[in-house]
Amino acid sequence: MQPTAKEAWNACLKVIRDNIESSSDNPTTFVTWFEPIKPLELDQVDSEVRLTVELPSHFFYEWLEEHFYHLIRETVTRVLGPDARLYYKIIIAQPAESAPSESSLLRAQPQTVIKRPAPDLVVPNAPVPLPASESRLSRCNTFDNFVEGDCNRLARSAALAIAQDPEDNSFSPFLVYGGVGLGKTHLIQAIGNHVLANHTRKRVRYVTSEHFLNEFVQSIEQHRIGQFSAYYRSIDVLIVDDVQFFGKKEKIQEMFFHVFNELHHLRKQIILSADRPPKDIKGIEERLLSRFQWGLAADVQIPDLETRMAILNRKAADEGLDLPQDVTDFIARNIKSNIRELEGALVRLMTHATLLHDEINAAMARQALKDFIHDQPTHVTIDYIVKIVCDYFKLNPDLVRAKTRKREVVQARQIAMFFARELTQNSLKTIGLQFGGRDHSTVVHSERSVNNQMETNSQYREMMVHIRRSLIANPP
Ligand code: ADP
Ligand code: MG
Repeated sequence: MQPTAKEAWNACLKVIRDNIESSSDNPTTFVTWFEPIKPLELDQVDSEVRLTVELPSHFFYEWLEEHFYHLIRETVTRVLGPDARLYYKIIIAQPAESAPSESSLLRAQPQTVIKRPAPDLVVPNAPVPLPASESRLSRCNTFDNFVEGDCNRLARSAALAIAQDPEDNSFSPFLVYGGVGLGKTHLIQAIGNHVLANHTRKRVRYVTSEHFLNEFVQSIEQHRIGQFSAYYRSIDVLIVDDVQFFGKKEKIQEMFFHVFNELHHLRKQIILSADRPPKDIKGIEERLLSRFQWGLAADVQIPDLETRMAILNRKAADEGLDLPQDVTDFIARNIKSNIRELEGALVRLMTHATLLHDEINAAMARQALKDFIHDQPTHVTIDYIVKIVCDYFKLNPDLVRAKTRKREVVQARQIAMFFARELTQNSLKTIGLQFGGRDHSTVVHSERSVNNQMETNSQYREMMVHIRRSLIANPP
């Protein structure tokens, strides 16, 4: 029996979600870009299986094309067969002349015209504080629960100074930058929450750059661009998260540039975050970049062991949990690069303890966190990697070193090369030589190919997790 459009689309969503959630650190990506898509119909025209879905705007369509083209195309053919194609119906705000453009594989159908409700950005006549919910801050990100360490001391103290005196804008714009999961969002939101709590007349607004862009696009579509900029100009403390996202998006940069200038001129506070220093953000116009550098930029770095332990203890205490010292030590020594992962480990531990009515101790932690912790075997050799990978694929290890280009051998060879890069200290040249005298560029290519497949294919990723586990479970 033929599935319904909804069933077919839901099956696609599962695959897409897997891919996105394991390849993006932004938990809202799936919700923002895929949940709004509505399945409309599934039919067959000649040999082509057509799944038609509805998109909320033309911009939405372009976004999906730009960012998820391959993923969507691969998912649809994987779920519905090689002859399946996805068709879009696009909702447009007014009867437009511009028909949705057609791409080679994601074909657009004639558009539907549906009026949209009015937007919710309201500009007050006299300054009034925004209702707390409109500030879009998460209440749990405060200074009180932000643990200070060498890794964030400067950023934290500047943030606190701004929060305590938002009128003094000598640090504006304040830019916090650093890698994923190191507390940027927490810190910039803490400023907003502090201002809201102590200066009740101040209008505070937190937005992610993605959200700012969406609002901007909607306001263009609805001919409310004036209202959009007036709204933003009425804000006292504007917090924009992840501005690297503006890279290569000229229109939004232009808009942001104007809002930015206006707020700066009015001596309002602007707070930004980015995942790298401003000079390394690609595709940002020079004049906007130089604005980012007017105020103060401070980075957050990977926390040292002591800070990681302090963060764990703090989080555990917030949950009413008294972590044994050796458990804190075990987690902090093994999870090094990301505070979000530290939190994840703690949650896993608590779930484990509750479900199994188990006491939290070092042995239990080791068991519960075994796939969190990338314990690497210390003396892995290329021979050992080849053996484990070939065992997995039930292949003779000699084949991997031979000339054959059979698909399953190539796959095993690439994966073995990938792990040789990851788990050993050997040079590209040595690795190439040990795989039947291959060139170093083959090794580079293999590594890239494995990475690509891990990015787009969740089954492949699962397979890699399995192999990695076997490598780690039985070190030589
Ligand atoms: P980023 O925006 O840099 O990716 P987040 O601010 O989202 O990182 O931080 C990830 C998680 O780690 C959040 O839950 C945050 O509360 C927590 N966190 C980060 N830094 C600290 C810190 N110094 N003290 C306590 N919690 C922290
Ligand atoms: Mg963040």
